Amino acid sequence: MARGFETKCLHLEEEEGDCSHFGALSYPIYQTATYAHPGVGQSTGFDYSRLQNPTREHLEKIVASLENGIDAFAFTTGMAAITMLMELFAPGDHLIVDEDLYGGSIRLFSHVSSKNGLTFSSVPCHAVNVEDYIQPNTKAIYIETPTNPMMNVTDIAALAQVAKKHDILLIVDNTFLSPYFQNPLDLGADIVIHSGTKFLGGHNDTLAGFLVTNREDIRERFRFLIKTTGAGLAPFDCFLIQRGIKTLGIRMERAQANAMEIAHWLQKQSCVTEVIYPGLKSHPGHEIMKKQARGFGAMLTFQVKNQAYAYAILGKVRMIKYAESLGGVETLLTYPMTQTHADVPDEIRRKNGITECTLRMSVGIEDVKDLLAELKKVFAEAEQKIEG
Ligand SMILES: *Cc1c(COP(=O)(O)O)cnc(C)c1O
Repeated sequence: MARGFETKCLHLEEEEGDCSHFGALSYPIYQTATYAHPGVGQSTGFDYSRLQNPTREHLEKIVASLENGIDAFAFTTGMAAITMLMELFAPGDHLIVDEDLYGGSIRLFSHVSSKNGLTFSSVPCHAVNVEDYIQPNTKAIYIETPTNPMMNVTDIAALAQVAKKHDILLIVDNTFLSPYFQNPLDLGADIVIHSGTKFLGGHNDTLAGFLVTNREDIRERFRFLIKTTGAGLAPFDCFLIQRGIKTLGIRMERAQANAMEIAHWLQKQSCVTEVIYPGLKSHPGHEIMKKQARGFGAMLTFQVKNQAYAYAILGKVRMIKYAESLGGVETLLTYPMTQTHADVPDEIRRKNGITECTLRMSVGIEDVKDLLAELKKVFAEAEQKIEG
């Protein structure tokens, strides 16, 4: 019988029953750069930690099992993972990428990958027929769903069919939902990306990134590339991410429940002009989410009346932090305009609906009563300041 998700977060079936590592329940941190060999032509299975390290391997096996992949690769950051992923492609190759992506991914594609001869079509994948954008040199479709920060939802299985038909890769950045709520490989994607910094680590205390695949040929390429380019995650960070993963399920449930309450509360505020949360029935992607995911996540975006309200709210939050990043136990409020999406050209930002009125919230696991109390106070203060 296949094991449940929460069990897989804690236990690796293949490592059970042998009491290795002196029976340590917490997987040891193998803080070593190199490994001694018993004799010529012999190996413990480990040679040098850039190639592989036992602590990293343990974490990678857990992440692979959570995404139902055959293998996973752990990197120093999400961006290091995506940067190495681009090494699958060669000058002249073309990729279709969603228009509303994490700002750092857009910056990588437009300022680094294009310099290396890759070309990109930036397309609103949830709203168009992606097949129309496929060229003879197209090698991959790259999406996030829901997108950051506008929460657009793309049908993964439908896009996987297009990718299969044209023999190109479907790559899904699954950071926003985590494997607890969505498994793109099961829906036909070839590669899944995670910023492990976010929900997987979950504590706003370390950076990490992952690539997961269910294809043997891609796994071999990744193994070669990580050993060659050298951005594998260090043992102590592997330990922290793995410890975070142990509570992924209960964190996601609590954060999602809080997000739903906050979304409903925001809908009732006079200074809020729009609440974008896929858990709301009014969200255009709600039905697709119900089909392809097991939840709606803990990320929401809302629009306020004007810039003055956005500034006042950001300036007045105290327990809720005005900070970049997401997916941790603490609730964060982000201003995409000057933070995550500052480097995205203004016309693209506006086309996607990101303006000076847009706020993004990563809802944490605090007592929702306290979150709502703080929001109530902050909104009242903002209103008093602006309306006088
Ligand atoms: C944060 C983030 C990244 C980049 O990850 P880092 O760990 O910050 O390098 C990539 N994609 C998404 C959706 C993210 O939120």
